[in-house]
Amino acid sequence: MTVHKPHLVVVGSVAIDWIITPRAERPESVGGSATFFAMAASYLSQVRLVGVVGRDFPDYAVADLKAAGVDVSGLEVVQDGLTFRWKGQYHENMNDRTTLETHLNVFEKFQPRLPEAFRGSEYLFLANIQPRLQSDVFAQMQRPRLVGLDTMNLWISIANDDLKAVLKNVDVLTLNDEEARQLSGEHNIVKAARAIRALGPRNVVIKRGEYGALLFDADGEVFSAPALPLEDVVDPTGAGDSFAGGFMGYLARPGVEPGGASLRTAMIYGSVMASFCVEGFSYDRLKGLDAATIQKRFETFASLTNFARASLT
Ligand code: AMP
Repeated sequence: MTVHKPHLVVVGSVAIDWIITPRAERPESVGGSATFFAMAASYLSQVRLVGVVGRDFPDYAVADLKAAGVDVSGLEVVQDGLTFRWKGQYHENMNDRTTLETHLNVFEKFQPRLPEAFRGSEYLFLANIQPRLQSDVFAQMQRPRLVGLDTMNLWISIANDDLKAVLKNVDVLTLNDEEARQLSGEHNIVKAARAIRALGPRNVVIKRGEYGALLFDADGEVFSAPALPLEDVVDPTGAGDSFAGGFMGYLARPGVEPGGASLRTAMIYGSVMASFCVEGFSYDRLKGLDAATIQKRFETFASLTNFARASLT
């Protein structure tokens, strides 16, 4: 018997970043929301990437994605343009960062056209990029079983209406706590999640950096996933996208029903992939992982929150 393997489409940025941390600097670090997502999800399911790069994008990065099993037939290369570039600086605590520069470059005129073979894919993740592009890609999909979306403060500020329009089609929204406050206008995180669910997404995942992530699900339940206390965080860039890659990658596995208890397991695979991501610059640490290493860390997460039930009555 052959098992049908579902496919997971991701659209988002494919980038060259300039990263500054308190201890090091990397001026040409391959990044982008779709890159991190695809690298992380590739260990769990069949990933199809949609995006655009310019002539300056290094060949080795495309080769790395292919080697990870990612279908890059939806990655357009524009010869007379430059790749999306982002420059960010981390502060001493490594949780806060400042965006110094964003150059959309080839994303400015990008008109995504999904390869025919991608359109019937069962799972879709609209990684962080202009909400207009997220909508364009959603419109070209036939009938995905589950749609996830990630965004950031820039788009909440400058493309709020477009973002709210695409959110109506989303099953799971992932965003960080500051963005949740900005999108909802609520300071309290529980109230923020409730207000966001009213915008469309039935499930909301709020990422809190080194403090882990919270899932507010369609039944109104809350689940908390820890982050792994790490001694050496090298570069947090891409942690959120790797989280989403582990999360969606798990849900898109054969035999996993995307809902209820599996959303909680997905939160842990998300946390696992984010914990690897921050151990290196770019996707250095995500590259060359294997199932046994990932599974070992999954067990570490399980023991992190495993405690004996007790009772006083
Ligand atoms: P994360 O650390 O998970 O929030 O994602 C970092 C990645 O997001 C970097 O590799 C950047 O290239 C990418 N990025 C930064 N700003 C934007 C933006 N406005 N739109 C899309 N991607 C972005």
